[in-house]
Amino acid sequence: MSEIENVDCLIIGSGPAGYTAAIYAARADMKPIMYEGLQPGGQLTTTNEVENFPGYPNGITGPAMMIELKEQAQRFDTDVRPGFITKVDFSGAVHKCWSDDGKEIHAKTIIIATGASAKYLGLPSEQKYLELGGGVSACAVCDGFFYRGQETIIVGAGDSACEEAHYLSKLCTKVTMLVRRDEFRASKIMADRVKNTPNIEILFNTETEEVLGDGQGVTGARIKNNVTGEVKEIPATGFFVAIGHKPNTDIFKDYIKLDEVGYIQYEQPGTSKTNVPGVFVAGDAADKTYRQAITAAGTGCMAALDAERYLSALEH
Ligand code: NDP
Repeated sequence: MSEIENVDCLIIGSGPAGYTAAIYAARADMKPIMYEGLQPGGQLTTTNEVENFPGYPNGITGPAMMIELKEQAQRFDTDVRPGFITKVDFSGAVHKCWSDDGKEIHAKTIIIATGASAKYLGLPSEQKYLELGGGVSACAVCDGFFYRGQETIIVGAGDSACEEAHYLSKLCTKVTMLVRRDEFRASKIMADRVKNTPNIEILFNTETEEVLGDGQGVTGARIKNNVTGEVKEIPATGFFVAIGHKPNTDIFKDYIKLDEVGYIQYEQPGTSKTNVPGVFVAGDAADKTYRQAITAAGTGCMAALDAERYLSALEH
């Protein structure tokens, strides 16, 4: 028998959405507990410099920002725990969750802030420079600025890739877009915008064989045309991957309404409510459009306020 713990507010996930929810929930005396999840600090811990989060005029590294958010949440007594939630049961009035440390948690309110994970190609050379922080990124809005005046590559052919290619084209001298098929997946308007941008070169039927580098940072890529078999090397200091994200929502799928890709659907747009009363969502687990730290933080605040109101209504 696992130990049962009754709580007012359980926050699942520890990115900007989770920590902002924790700060608000803790200050509202909801005594939140937080499970940090598989990637404590979330996606920002894989980012170098964050220059677009208001309040940091000189920028801050992603990991440092997450430490500050954690300290701020703990200052108001959020119980931040390592580990993750392995299973949930939202079928009854009490929301049940099980953690990897053997606890069964019964929560009156739950804030899901499990985020999403960017997909990567999975090439060893790509992973090497991603880990080094030396030129591989899955977020042009976050990291494009570091490549201004330089040449970059972007992989993908969906709306995200088009949007990010266009964003990069304003900063970089040249953007080479690698599309694995002979057509875009993106909407026509987005694809047309890319096609009509003079400093974006689109290479169709093209796949990446290897991300090239000098041991410190990216210097280009070896690419292959999958129709002609031609292999060539192209120069770039930034290698952007925009081949989609996977929301981390698998454990909720039997209870929470998800869209076809797995993003949590809001029950009531403009709020953080899911289809299960008392279960709220914040951040990238429900956001395939904006995906920014600041928007995640904003929805984290909304989720805590909605949870607080739900709790008050239960008690009165
Ligand atoms: P998508 O799933 O729409 O597109 C992913 C793209 O990556 C596809 O073109 C796919 O190629 C390509 N891809 C996948 N795996 C690989 C691989 N291993 N190698 C090379 N290419 C690969 O993801 P997005 O993130 O672009 O969009 C997600 C959702 O968000 C969509 O519904 C989109 O419309 C929406 N969105 C809307 C925006 C807007 O309206 N402003 C902005 C951004 C996103 P292939 O086509 O061959 O499968």
